[in-house]
Amino acid sequence: SSYDINRVEHLSTVSQLAASISHEVRNPLSVTRGFLQLMTTPGLTTDKQKDYIKISLEELDRAAGIITDYLSFAKPVIDETVPFFLYDELEYIAKMMIPYATIRDIRFQLLNEAQGIQIFGSTKKFRQALINLIKNGIEAMPSGGELRLACTGSANGIAHIEIADTGTGMDAEMLKRVGKPFFTTKEKGTGLGMMVAYSLIQGMNGEIEVSSKVGEGTCFSIYLPIIEG
Ligand code: ADP
Ligand code: MG
Repeated sequence: SSYDINRVEHLSTVSQLAASISHEVRNPLSVTRGFLQLMTTPGLTTDKQKDYIKISLEELDRAAGIITDYLSFAKPVIDETVPFFLYDELEYIAKMMIPYATIRDIRFQLLNEAQGIQIFGSTKKFRQALINLIKNGIEAMPSGGELRLACTGSANGIAHIEIADTGTGMDAEMLKRVGKPFFTTKEKGTGLGMMVAYSLIQGMNGEIEVSSKVGEGTCFSIYLPIIEG
């Protein structure tokens, strides 16, 4: 079966990202502030009160979502860059995501053949990037499925990691837009998770490729240079 493949272009640097994200968090906070102020209007009907509270809660959820996609692990700009063992990180990430998958009827499979492979970068940023990709995979399987996190080792100085799901998949049009700021197909999406993941991996001199087929699933491949010697 033919898969659409998209090699992701170079996106904004992590510091440009920081500026746009703080802007995006400030917006929903301002909206919420405005509606809370309106709540003090004398004689406000209960219907209006309910409306204002609903919008405020939605906006707060949006701010929280942006922070989840961006700031759960990585500090925006500065982060210590160190050698780390890929094997340990994949174990850690799997352990963290298995409960999240299990309660959604998703079988989480880990194939970890990264023994001895060291990567130069920030473990926090690595975790953030992978978790954003895994979360998307899980969210693409609303009625369950299989999420596979796999490292089959390295070749020619490059480690290869795959995150594959058996979810909704993406058509060519979506593949063109995925990773562009604020592209989302979810009611409560931020459209930032992919952009953050791409720019964090690129910040570690890595690359991401995505292949997808509607109705069958999606596979993200991450390529990262390893420390040799
Ligand atoms: P969000 O998850 O908040 O929508 P993301 O930047 O993480 O924002 O993802 C952007 C969009 O890319 C999603 O809304 C979805 O349409 C699409 N997408 C990303 N990953 C997958 C996937 N594994 N399967 C299907 N669609 C995906
Ligand atoms: Mg997401």
